[in-house]
Amino acid sequence: MAQEQNKGQNKNPKLKKPKFNIFWIYILLLAIIIYIWTSGYGSSKSSVSKEVTWDKAQKVLLNRDFSAIKVVNKEYAEIFIKQEAISRGDTLYNDIYKNDGGVFSNNKITLDNLNASYIYKFVTFDDFRQQLDLISNQWTVEDTLNKGLSESQKADIIAKNHINPVSETKGGFWLQNSGWIISTLFIIVIWIVFFRFMGRGSSGAGGGGLSGLFSVGKSRAKLYDKDQNTHVTFSDVAGLEEAKVEVMEIVDFLKNPDKYTKLGGKIPKGALLVGPPGTGKTLLAKAVAGEARVPFFSLSGSDFTEMFVGVGASRVRDLFNNAKAKAPCIIFIDEIDAIGRARGKNAFNAANDERENTLNQLLTEMDGFGTNAGVIVLAATNRADILDKALLRAGRFDRQIYVELPEVKEREAIFKVHMKNLKFDKNEVSVDFLAKQTPGFSGADIANICNEAALIAARRSKQVIGKQDFLDAVDRIVGGLEKKSKIISPKEKERIAFHEAGHATVSWMLEFANPLLKVTIVPRGRALGAAWYIPEERQITTKQQMMEQIISLLGGRASEQLTFGDISTGALNDLERATQMATAMVKYYGLDEKVGNRSYFDSTGQSEYSMQQQFSEKTAELIDERVDLLLREAYASACKILEENKDNLRVLAELLRDKEVIFREDVQNIFGPRKWADSIDGIKPEETPKQESEAQQEETNNQ
Ligand code: ATP
Repeated sequence: MAQEQNKGQNKNPKLKKPKFNIFWIYILLLAIIIYIWTSGYGSSKSSVSKEVTWDKAQKVLLNRDFSAIKVVNKEYAEIFIKQEAISRGDTLYNDIYKNDGGVFSNNKITLDNLNASYIYKFVTFDDFRQQLDLISNQWTVEDTLNKGLSESQKADIIAKNHINPVSETKGGFWLQNSGWIISTLFIIVIWIVFFRFMGRGSSGAGGGGLSGLFSVGKSRAKLYDKDQNTHVTFSDVAGLEEAKVEVMEIVDFLKNPDKYTKLGGKIPKGALLVGPPGTGKTLLAKAVAGEARVPFFSLSGSDFTEMFVGVGASRVRDLFNNAKAKAPCIIFIDEIDAIGRARGKNAFNAANDERENTLNQLLTEMDGFGTNAGVIVLAATNRADILDKALLRAGRFDRQIYVELPEVKEREAIFKVHMKNLKFDKNEVSVDFLAKQTPGFSGADIANICNEAALIAARRSKQVIGKQDFLDAVDRIVGGLEKKSKIISPKEKERIAFHEAGHATVSWMLEFANPLLKVTIVPRGRALGAAWYIPEERQITTKQQMMEQIISLLGGRASEQLTFGDISTGALNDLERATQMATAMVKYYGLDEKVGNRSYFDSTGQSEYSMQQQFSEKTAELIDERVDLLLREAYASACKILEENKDNLRVLAELLRDKEVIFREDVQNIFGPRKWADSIDGIKPEETPKQESEAQQEETNNQ
């Protein structure tokens, strides 16, 4: 049905009517500007010049009818005529101005705004100089004859009558006009560059240069259809089984709408892919484009925004028009939060700004009076919570598809996808082991590890990628680049060793602290040292578990206090994270008995912009007090554990200081086996590498 409708629309001759192109208005404006520039319109005087012979020039000079003489390039003289000479009505000047309707006596040029001159081209400048001297002499004779003047008076008159032409050097046409030509060209170039920049990335009707300028309001969606494919299929997307089923169902709606509508159902208008960064939302959408075999318009939320008002809404309209013409089809809007944020609920954003107009247009297009039969909108975001509620309601994005961080089996599958093209040692590298080593990693992180491992192996001139290369890649991605060249004094090294040993000791002694894998004091990224853990993969966390995490975070500082009687700035990162956790316990999770079962968590994201606190001053004080108490209790517990294990702490710290990197086994040798089984125990001992690294680290910050 939808297809037929559209076909019908395309046949409509009205649609084929050439549209008025705003391009011509710009060209006209440019032409007017150039005309005004070149015609000198607006200048106070109109210049009129005529070339004359010496006879005529001589008459003008003898009559003393000139105001100045300009000698240009020693080639010709420009003799400027006095206005009163012309107004005398002397026929001598009829060739440049005629009172009775001559060539220049039209409406534009009046005597007042006339700047008249004669051009006399002399043979040589010396000849001309002599001719001027003769004229001067003639004047002097006229001025002195029969006047009985004294010699000094005569001398004065001779001096006064001396004609002094002004010299001037002028270039040719180009040089003369270079000023305005260059400035005009400059403006045009800036103009083109500016609009090319704005038009960049536009496809189809867009394009760069002037076409970019004239297609500012056009949609920038990239179209994938049978001629141009994304070459991504569902086999490239590992895991995400439920999400795959849901998106495939959407494709099926488009291909077989009758199957659903014959029972009275309506085809969904849109689906929103929601999940943390790098979990494969865009990849999934690309796979839909690759598999669906229907036209697929892909663009990002920021592609709608432009510095001009109204452009966003116009692009939305254009996008839907294009899509309707190609129905059945899919529109994919990545990072939709760029335009889909909740509308003006805060003091700064109350105005009906450009983004809101764009969003309003999107809302209208998705569920307005006009129908978009056969167009399904897929969108992706990291934060569905901040999106406008109107966007999420049924009838627009009817479905929300959650794309979560991968579980261990999914990570294994993602590793397999990305290791397909890698040359790695199949006997040494176990995909299962790598998956267990990387809890909390997203698909993008895993893709990055595989690539980084290949680069590390290449740097080591290896033929195949080994296990160590993968582990080093994980280390590098979690902790940053190793900085062996960083100069650390022996005293600092000792302090860092005790700090990290403090973390290791405390977490070893606590049931719910994350299982320790490795401790290092080799500087990496911004950290001077780190204790590496494998976080437990859990869906909910208990109060006790959170508390023990905080205690182990404060173990570093407690160890410094206990050993050196003094604390340092190295605990910045620990303190930041501990404070965040304690605040979340009290303020968001309702885990504090005094504050009670209250949560000030704002899932809509509106409080980010709000100037008002959600709670009273009294509650704020109570929250502060309870967070403080939690942290103090945690610190006291950390100190107590370390005090009880003082000797082992020293042995561990000294070992760490000397070896720089120690592993779980070293800690176990000193403290004895841990009382509780943890997730690392799931990794078989023979798989535990000599050097391991983890998804989570507690680090000594170097600030
Ligand atoms: P963001 O929200 O930051 O835009 P995203 O969820 O859209 O992130 P993608 O751009 O789809 O993430 O993923 C980035 C890269 O991560 C992909 O190009 C791919 O290499 C890899 N990746 C992510 N998830 C998977 C997966 N499930 N299977 C295979 N590769 C994946």
